Amino acid sequence: MKIAIIYNNNKKSVTLAEELRKLCQKNQLVIDEKKPNVVITIGGDGTLLSAFHRYAHLLDEVRFVGVHTGHLGFYTDWRDYELEELVASLVTDEGESVSYPLLDVEVCYQNQPEKARFVALNESTLKRVGGTMVCDVYIKDELFERFRGDGICVSTPTGSTAYNKSVGGAVIHPRLEAIQLTEIASINNRVFRTLSSPLIVARDEWIKLKPATEEGFILTIDQLTSAEKNIIEINYRIAKERIHFARYRHTHFWSRVEDAFIGAKKNHGV
Ligand code: NAP
Repeated sequence: MKIAIIYNNNKKSVTLAEELRKLCQKNQLVIDEKKPNVVITIGGDGTLLSAFHRYAHLLDEVRFVGVHTGHLGFYTDWRDYELEELVASLVTDEGESVSYPLLDVEVCYQNQPEKARFVALNESTLKRVGGTMVCDVYIKDELFERFRGDGICVSTPTGSTAYNKSVGGAVIHPRLEAIQLTEIASINNRVFRTLSSPLIVARDEWIKLKPATEEGFILTIDQLTSAEKNIIEINYRIAKERIHFARYRHTHFWSRVEDAFIGAKKNHGV
């Protein structure tokens, strides 16, 4: 089995990565950063997001494992002191995996026949700096509303606990194949009106955004940000690809949510 180890520059992560590398070599696991079977990240959810984009061209071949050096994450199951147990699971690996939906982002630009295509693990946002973003929102190809405000976020189920949650979106169980649109500071008054609540569309539906102005947009794909102009439309749908995790253990999704956002069980010793 070929392993890649991706870590953030936190001192603890650097030390753990070295320890893991030695353990892998001792157990005849080959370190191969170019074409790995399993990508192990050491850090937080942000580290796993970076690794996802680094190996986005190998999604059908690669499984991910997250080791967290801080708090339990949404993409990280293993604790820093469990490296030996993790390596033992890799040695007896039988291809155990679980997969989650991803977001397909297709951007059409003026005077550019080729569409740009991205895949997001958490979300994509379209925002406007230096002015109100005015944008038509379509569901499938039917006009739903004209949005005015700071921006729009479209997220995956696993991304629903990230930026989506901060802008008032619902937390969605990752077994559901759906994408969610949340508004970022929409203008709502007697003149301008939007739905003003998160909207979740089904697997066979897609969301189209058509900006009404040409300049001043910021497009984000997870942690990646780019300044944009001349966008004609962006189509968001569930991607054909999925992310696969090597599943040697299972943390119940709602326990993870409770641990991350409430923590009452831990505080009360439950
Ligand atoms: P960052 O600003 O360093 O991290 C933002 C926080 O989001 C970190 O605490 C990270 O957890 C957490 N996070 C990432 N994915 C998550 C998920 N699926 N569920 C719950 N929490 C999650 O940015 P980054 O490390 O480059 O990551 C980019 C992501 O951060 C974006 O995709 C966006 O979702 C999120 N973000 C959120 C806000 C907000 O809530 N207002 C603002 C900016 C970005 P770790 O500490 O474990 O890495």
